[in-house]
Amino acid sequence: MNMKIGVVGLGYVGIVTAAVLSDRGNEVVGIDVDQNRVDKLKSLKPPIHEPGLDEMLERNADRLSFSSDYSNIKGCDAVFVSVQTPNKGGHVDTSFVNDAVSRIKQANAAAVMIIKSTVPPGTTRAIAESTGMKVAFNPEFTKEGTAIEDTLRQDRVVIGCDDKELQDFVWGIWSFAGSQAIKTTYENAEMIKYASNTFLAVKISFINEMSNIAERIRGCDIDVVARGMGLDPRISPHFLKAGLGWGGSCLPKDSQALEAFAEEHGEQMLVLKAAMDANDKRIPRIIKIVDSFAKGGRIKRIGVLGLSFKAGTDDLRESQGLKLMNALASAGYEAVGFDPRVRQLANASLCGSKEECIESSDAVIIATAEEEFKDMETLLGDRFVVDVHRILKKGSLRNLVQLGIGENK
Ligand code: NAD
Repeated sequence: MNMKIGVVGLGYVGIVTAAVLSDRGNEVVGIDVDQNRVDKLKSLKPPIHEPGLDEMLERNADRLSFSSDYSNIKGCDAVFVSVQTPNKGGHVDTSFVNDAVSRIKQANAAAVMIIKSTVPPGTTRAIAESTGMKVAFNPEFTKEGTAIEDTLRQDRVVIGCDDKELQDFVWGIWSFAGSQAIKTTYENAEMIKYASNTFLAVKISFINEMSNIAERIRGCDIDVVARGMGLDPRISPHFLKAGLGWGGSCLPKDSQALEAFAEEHGEQMLVLKAAMDANDKRIPRIIKIVDSFAKGGRIKRIGVLGLSFKAGTDDLRESQGLKLMNALASAGYEAVGFDPRVRQLANASLCGSKEECIESSDAVIIATAEEEFKDMETLLGDRFVVDVHRILKKGSLRNLVQLGIGENK
């Protein structure tokens, strides 16, 4: 059944949610407090990069509207809340959610509110109790870079609330996605989101540490080890790629949030803490590699290719590539960067193309696995190169360090 649906908070999650739900035939009203963002969306120019998004917005322009005025969501069958939940002093700042919730309530906008923002266990129940509205928690699991596809075909739709009818109603919105439904309590649904994200962080830190050991063993290659591990369905091949460490808008903040939440409840997340420590050591490890080949002052300017937190997105939040640029500058190098989707960068030198970045640098670090960074051996020539994600052919350059290969020693 097609509905009128509101989406409050038009960031990476909200815009994709709005686009996909309109594509499924619903009338969607998107609300954001950022007028500039709203204006861009009104002219169908999304303020984020996500493959397939521009076309989807254009295709559904007659079913989509955007505004900063909450009165426009009046009469919606349901309103999603997808505002940010950043970290404040190590804890989750739910003030944006609370603000959106009270404005929805004030606007008397809809009977049903569905929280998509990641919030600590207990938050959604408290919202339901304080507003007296029908409220469900429906966590978001999409990955930036494939968010449209992920939303169209979700692995699972998790719906948390105590009301079976409301669970079925929310499931009705997403039933096209061909997913497994988990209809459960508020708290289980909220925990599923935190447990999933932090488990992924642990998995990446684990393979990064395995990669460190592999570098000490002649004949060892972490990519082969990871492939062998990943074929075991109990392990799975995903998030098993050694690299620069995890960043982005979710894993770092959700890890800190869960650690703080556990402590508040008298428990410790020792495994997660170790994963966070291991992650903090990734960039110093790269600096050590750079220092070892820069001896004698022959390397002054270093180009970093890939500045977003991972390939395929323009999101710079908690980006390891940016942290690497800062660490290089602190270590006395001149750092310049290039990213195919990043056009502006505060306090850092940005090149207009990968060619300019490479040609103007004494050494290059390939920090993300962008397609366009493949097959550029000729361009790199004899420069010193650190290939963090192993996207160049193995051993293809004279001065090449590729993480996780024993021969690097
Ligand atoms: P974002 O920062 O990209 O966007 C949030 C938007 O909400 C902004 O445009 C902001 O202006 C708007 N906003 C803030 N307060 C508002 C209010 N009161 N009314 C209307 N609009 C308001 O955030 P995001 O990355 O889309 O993440 C949203 C939530 O989803 C977070 O809780 C995050 O943890 C979770 N999440 C994000 C991802 C992801 O890939 N980005 C994936 C899964 C879950």
